[in-house]
Amino acid sequence: MKKTFVKSVLAGMILLLSAGQLFAAKKTEIDKIKKAGVLKVGCKEDVPGYGYLNPATNVHEGLEIDIAKAVSKKIFGKESVKFTGVSAKTRGPLVDTGEIDMVAATFTVTEARRKLWDFSEIYMQDPVALMVKKASGIASFKDLNGLTVGVAQSATSKKIFEAAAAEAGITLKFNEYSTYPEIKTALDSGRIQAFGVDSSILAGYIEDSVMLLPEKYSPQSYGVAVKKGNTALLNVINETIAELEASGEMSRLKAKYNLDK
Ligand code: GLU
Repeated sequence: MKKTFVKSVLAGMILLLSAGQLFAAKKTEIDKIKKAGVLKVGCKEDVPGYGYLNPATNVHEGLEIDIAKAVSKKIFGKESVKFTGVSAKTRGPLVDTGEIDMVAATFTVTEARRKLWDFSEIYMQDPVALMVKKASGIASFKDLNGLTVGVAQSATSKKIFEAAAAEAGITLKFNEYSTYPEIKTALDSGRIQAFGVDSSILAGYIEDSVMLLPEKYSPQSYGVAVKKGNTALLNVINETIAELEASGEMSRLKAKYNLDK
């Protein structure tokens, strides 16, 4: 009887302690950001309408930039964001090391990635496409049979094109690069015959000499990512996205950046 009583008192204390610790941990994540006085955000700098560093003004602009600003406003009562340019390869590690608090950078939510990072609600979808040189005469996906597609390391693209090729009964070769400018240079110089990734990203590299193939694949669902377990920040991000949606501001922003076409 006595033993059971002691045991339940102990169990109760442990429960209280862990609840307290959890509360303290949650508080600290936002407290840390408040103490830093700035929300550190990883963004794209070469994706027009999403995350773009305008060379004329040297200012970041786009839907993901505005979402990040809205999150910071919720935390500080005013906008306070430090943007860091990221790529598909660097964005995850930068969150892991704490160099950035969150990533809003055309980050496709996948089941495999959910194991590594926590993702917000989806705020946008965009399909994958392929860019070719007009002069190449390549006019459809099937024309790429036996040719080489340039894709980014750590991106979802390669798997998607492999599946699409199997479906279409063609064979593709792949070259992987760490940045998109490198892929565009490889396309221009003829080392690869197509540049494949989300159409939002390809839009940053459109010019007269190139075109997109008509086929589009696998709409990519974009979410904001935080370090695994950073529930406090994730909650603020989700609240912000929900409010932007409910007020109609999200639709206005998508229209402003021509992402509603
Ligand atoms: N959105 C795709 C991904 O998350 C393409 C890569 C990128 O965002 O740069 O894998």
